[in-house]
Amino acid sequence: MRARTLLSGLKVWNLGKNTWVNRLSNGVSSSVSTHGPQVCVVGSGPAGFYTAQHLIKARPDVQVDIYEQLPVPFGLVRFGVAPDHPEVKNVINTFTQTAKQSRCAFYGNVNVGKDISMEELRQAYHAVVLSYGAEGNRTMGVPGEHLDGVYSAKDFVGWYNGLPSCRQLSPDLSCDTAVILGQGNVALDVARILLAPVQMLKKTDITAPALEALAESRVSRVLIVGRRGPLQVACTIKELREMVNLPGTKPEMVAADFEGIAEALKDVARPRKRLTELLLKTALEPPGEKEQQRRNSARRSWGFLFCRSPLEVLPDPSGTRTAALRLAVNKLEGSGEGARAVLTTEEEVVPCGLVISSIGYKSLPIDPAVPFDPSKAIIPNDMGRVTQAPGLYVSGWLKTGPTGVIATTMNSSFDTARSLLEDMGSGALDVSTRKPGSDSIQALLDQRGIKPVTFSDWEKIDQVESRRGEAVGKPREKLLTVEEMLEVSRA
Ligand code: FAD
Ligand code: NAP
Repeated sequence: MRARTLLSGLKVWNLGKNTWVNRLSNGVSSSVSTHGPQVCVVGSGPAGFYTAQHLIKARPDVQVDIYEQLPVPFGLVRFGVAPDHPEVKNVINTFTQTAKQSRCAFYGNVNVGKDISMEELRQAYHAVVLSYGAEGNRTMGVPGEHLDGVYSAKDFVGWYNGLPSCRQLSPDLSCDTAVILGQGNVALDVARILLAPVQMLKKTDITAPALEALAESRVSRVLIVGRRGPLQVACTIKELREMVNLPGTKPEMVAADFEGIAEALKDVARPRKRLTELLLKTALEPPGEKEQQRRNSARRSWGFLFCRSPLEVLPDPSGTRTAALRLAVNKLEGSGEGARAVLTTEEEVVPCGLVISSIGYKSLPIDPAVPFDPSKAIIPNDMGRVTQAPGLYVSGWLKTGPTGVIATTMNSSFDTARSLLEDMGSGALDVSTRKPGSDSIQALLDQRGIKPVTFSDWEKIDQVESRRGEAVGKPREKLLTVEEMLEVSRA
């Protein structure tokens, strides 16, 4: 009987007829047909894991390999979701169950497009599912955008959440007023993290350098600026309520911005109605005695500024640092969700030392041979089937654009998996020929000196982070560099 060791570290024994038996450490055996469909998924965020989960559940013969550029899995669940929202990160338990299935393998530290090409993956697998998310961001496109003190929310979030590429950001928090452009949930995450009491943050998995910088922060006022009006804010009610109740802060709204809004509410859908009612209450209703006391003692404030578009970031006298933001005053054309912001000739200048642009993430092309729609910044597809590219599929934010919560991403990833399964079933995707899967990719990576991080390697990182966190009363203390992650994973 011939044995071989898989990339995952598992030893398998050949029983002939393309059937191999896994001998797991607990003595349990499970059989794997190497003739089954070989699928690879690029990216280990929610889209990658939910696509893999659905495929594995639906087809007992499929092998799914997940390639991830970082040594650690879970994408924005680790590097996006706010540290004070630990309950959201419970999806990691489901992803872990998927990764531990015998027919799923995780290969971290493999950057597709750099360490391994799309062509090589397509040769090795029957199907490739692209789930590499939205790693870029929309830019304001205004003069002064590159001054010190201007950051994208993507980088700012990456900094407080320990994304290795954002480690050096070290934002200067020595000013009193920060402006956040955009009124979506990411904008509210950033506002909350800037203003939350450090006592609250220190119990979360926020990184140690971010906690230290926020403890020294002088930022006491955050303005959340939208190009449209109160009826078009993109955040949701739970996140707005968290702002309203944030200890040590008080809201600062302009009552005139809400003229006519209550009257417009009768025609809007329930979630929007409830959200707007909370905005109206916060802006217009006199607070009760207890709330008034709370507001009186607050040392920090936040507020929404509506119908403003950025025109220019103005520098201080040194010419290098942000001193203010010049904004156009907009009028709205149309009504409801579809209302359009139109610039007027009126302008205003808001002094501020920090500008965080939170106007959306953006997917980037991975390979010239993979179709990409630059206007929508997505891979064009029909229910997850990449247009005019048989064998290629897409899921997650790369498929839909950078909106939607984890549950939305889950449903759309299941749809992509269904399309793939349908194509295997109908013969539109030929899975009758044998494909080498990870065997050939491993050989190529070996030649290139790339050593993938397996899921059990990640578990070593996880243990070290949890242990370090426990020592300081946090759920985890994240490792901040790829080098340290690799070192721990190989210990
Ligand atoms: P991602 O999660 O970004 O995963 C993509 C993965 O692909 C990453 O791991 C990346 O490293 C990897 N990758 C990229 N390029 C390559 C490559 N070349 N080779 C290999 N791998 C690659 N939703 C909620 O429900 N609740 C929340 O509280 C919440 N908070 C959020 C906070 C922020 C700041 C953001 C931006 C989003 C938040 N969301 C939240 C939305 C949620 O994160 C997304 O719906 C979801 O992560 C999208 O999944 P994805 O797999 O498409 O992308
Ligand atoms: P988003 O919800 O799409 O919000 C983007 C904001 O930027 C909107 O206010 C938008 O205004 C504005 N904007 C876009 N382009 C602009 C431009 N050119 N100029 C000025 N303003 C512009 O995106 P997001 O906040 O990045 O969030 C992404 C997704 O992740 C969302 O689905 C969100 O719900 C989810 N998320 C969820 C949570 C949570 O559940 N707690 C936390 C974070 C993120 P317009 O409406 O006028 O375009």
